Amino acid sequence: MTVKGRFAPTPSGRMHLGNLFSALLAWLSVRSKNGQIVLRIEDLDIGRCRMENALRFEKDLKWLGLDWDEGGCFEPYLQSKRGQIYDEAFDKLSQMGLVYPCYCSRASLHAASAPHASDGQYIYSGVCKNLTEEQRSQMIKIPAWRLAVPDREVSFIDGHLGKFSQNLALDCGDFIIRRADGVYGYQLAVVVDDALMGVTEVVRGCDLLDSTPRQIYVNQLLGYDIPSYYHLPLLTAPDGRRLSKRDKDMDLSELEKNYTPQQLVGRLAHIAGIIDAPEAVSARELVSEFSWDKVRKDTSVVV
Ligand code: GLU
Repeated sequence: MTVKGRFAPTPSGRMHLGNLFSALLAWLSVRSKNGQIVLRIEDLDIGRCRMENALRFEKDLKWLGLDWDEGGCFEPYLQSKRGQIYDEAFDKLSQMGLVYPCYCSRASLHAASAPHASDGQYIYSGVCKNLTEEQRSQMIKIPAWRLAVPDREVSFIDGHLGKFSQNLALDCGDFIIRRADGVYGYQLAVVVDDALMGVTEVVRGCDLLDSTPRQIYVNQLLGYDIPSYYHLPLLTAPDGRRLSKRDKDMDLSELEKNYTPQQLVGRLAHIAGIIDAPEAVSARELVSEFSWDKVRKDTSVVV
C-alpha cells in the first residue's frame, strides 16, 4: 500500500520555525518511503484564517523544497468548504445516540480554541448530558454539540514515541464536535478528512498527542482505517516557552532574511537529530539520510 502523508496547516499567520519543523519531518517520513503527500488547509475557523496566509504557506513550502502531490488552496481541500461532508459524519454519530447539545457557554468558547486545547485543558463535567428533553426545549441559547466518550482506555503505538493510552472519560471528557455557530470541531474534521483523503500517516507536534485518542475513538465509531501517528518534539525558546507566532524572529518573514532554504533545512534537520551539524543541505538530499531512529524523542527541544 502506498504511504500517504499530509501537510495540514491552519492559515492563521505566517509559517514559523515550529510549522517548518513539522512540515519537513512529515515530508521526509513520506518521501523516504516513496509515498504521496496531500496539502489540506485547516481553515475551519474562518474568523482566524486568511486565504492569503494559505497561499503564502504554499509558497513557503516550495521555497523550502517541500512538494506535495495532491491538494492545495482550492475547494475540496479547504476545510471551510467541507461542511456537508462533516454533516454526514455528525449525523452518523448522532444516530448512534452519542451526540448531545451543550448549553455551557464558557466551555463552548474554550472548545473554539482547538486544536491547541491542551494549553488549558479541562474535563467536561457532563452536566448537559443529563438534561431531559423538556429541559432542553426550554433553553433559549443555541447549543454546541458534544460527543459522549466511554469510560475506557484508548491506546495506540506512536511510530516515534511508542505506546500512549488515555481513558477518555477520566482524561478528556465528552468533547465538542460542533460549535454553537455551526463550525465543526477540529477533532471531527481532522478524522473525516484524513480518512476520506486516504491519509495513512500523520506526523505532527507533540501538542496534539493528547488529541490522538479522541481522534482514534472517532475513527473507530465512523468505521475508518486508523492512520499511523508520529509525534514530534515541540520547539521551545530558551526560557521554555513553546515557539509561536508571537516569536517574530522565528517567523519565516524574518528567517528568510537570514537563511537560504538549504541553511534552514540544515538547521531543522540538525535540531531533529538527523544530521550531526547544522550544515546547508536540501530537503531532497536528506531523504536517503532519514530514519525515525535518528529523530530525537524528547517532548521539547530548545532552539
Ligand atoms: N492544523 C493543525 C495546526 O496547524 C494541525 C493539525 C494536525 O496535524 O492534525 O496546528
